Amino acid sequence: MSLSIRWRLTLWIAVALILTLTAIFLSLRFALGRILTDDLDEELSQDLGQLSAHIAIGGSLDEDALASMIETAGFLTVIRDTDGNVLAASPGLDPGPLDLNGDERRDIVEGSETVARTVEVGDEDVRVRSARLLLGRDVAGIVQVGESAEAIGQVMGALTVIFITEGVGVAVLALMAGYWLSRSALKPVEGITILAAEIEASDLTRRIAAAGKPTEVQRLADTFDAMLARLDAAFRQQRDFVMDVSHELRTPLTALRGNLDVLLMDERLDGETRTQLDRMSAEVGRLIRLTSNLLYMAHADAGRELDRRPVELDALCLEVLRHSKDLRPDATLRLGHQAQVAVLGDRDLLKQVILNLVDNGLKYSAPGGQVTLSLYQDETDVRVVVEDSGPGIPHDQLGRIFERYHRGPDSHVRAPGGAGIGLAISRWIARAHGGDILVRSETGRGSAFTVVLPLEPVRADDIRPEERRDSLA
Ligand code: ADP
Repeated sequence: MSLSIRWRLTLWIAVALILTLTAIFLSLRFALGRILTDDLDEELSQDLGQLSAHIAIGGSLDEDALASMIETAGFLTVIRDTDGNVLAASPGLDPGPLDLNGDERRDIVEGSETVARTVEVGDEDVRVRSARLLLGRDVAGIVQVGESAEAIGQVMGALTVIFITEGVGVAVLALMAGYWLSRSALKPVEGITILAAEIEASDLTRRIAAAGKPTEVQRLADTFDAMLARLDAAFRQQRDFVMDVSHELRTPLTALRGNLDVLLMDERLDGETRTQLDRMSAEVGRLIRLTSNLLYMAHADAGRELDRRPVELDALCLEVLRHSKDLRPDATLRLGHQAQVAVLGDRDLLKQVILNLVDNGLKYSAPGGQVTLSLYQDETDVRVVVEDSGPGIPHDQLGRIFERYHRGPDSHVRAPGGAGIGLAISRWIARAHGGDILVRSETGRGSAFTVVLPLEPVRADDIRPEERRDSLA
């Protein structure tokens, strides 16, 4: 599972705080336990001194005298001989848990040190201190005194409860504080992410410009800005290159087609030569279309303005028919319904859209196929419809065919040489005119592409004379 930096920071802060608190608690508990035990041991030491002194004054280990002495003592007491046998013990006290093993007895008898330890008597913790008992100069036995250590346990228990309840509260607070801290620390980074996501390939001129932000964030933003600047330069270079090359290619190709068309005017041409020249002219036309697509794609990226003038669409359709009819000698291209209508638009671009759609219709049709170019008008829109009887487009491809460089899975076989940009450019042109392209298709039955353009009032005398001539050609 991958956690966001914000949550990681939050957890780290919380874990660090909890570990620190636990360490503080453990050392506090240890120190307090020590202090309280030392206090108790000190008390036991005094009890032991007093009792030993009383017995020494008595001068004997007479069991009755010892018993009455122990009875009045306010603490647990056991008196043993040097072999560990119990001579007297506090009433009701089971001396068993206070028994000493041989080594302990020897240490006590031979040394002058007292030995303290905690034992369990019944279900109570008792701190016991043992020391040798001197009568005169002789070691006569062992004295043990004890007091309950329950109070120490209770203090420790209370401390633990306080720590756990406070600890849970502190952990929750630490989580909240950690979340808030990491959130405010990462906020500028989030801002950069949002801005970076908004910047598109077509608009690399935007910059993050994070002046005044924390140093690390500013460094990140500056690096990002520098990368954007490099990308922008590279994109511009590529666009200018495509623009120059396609422009340079289009001029000689147009001249070539012009020459071929002049040759075709010769009445004396025999049938075979005419057919060959027709085909050459059509292929050159396809090359012109491809280079024009590249040129318009670069124009689209550069944000080119449309050269809007009144365009007679029926004349444009006739022109497209004339240029495209020889693209596929084994398929038929015909005009369907033709409304007489003009729109305000960029003539070259609109012609390119219709050429692209007709070219696709012919390209993807099987031999004997038919492509129909129609023009309709209603009150608000003009529709240029290109229908074909081709293979159709699979449903899952319909959403992608307008993407740049996208070609259908079998397009490389059906129509080698395409670049996958015709429909993308066509849609850009249609949208730049305030319209769109719609597609209907059924696999195995054919496709219909409709260019919808808004109808704007065009006066007949707006139309340039050369366009009228064109439509008659
Ligand atoms: P290209 O034709 O160079 O591949 P386009 O952008 O013109 O590029 O078309 C994209 C894809 O859409 C084509 O590769 C093809 O799969 C599909 N397509 C376009 N027009 C048709 C059509 N009339 N019939 C079937 N498929 C088509």
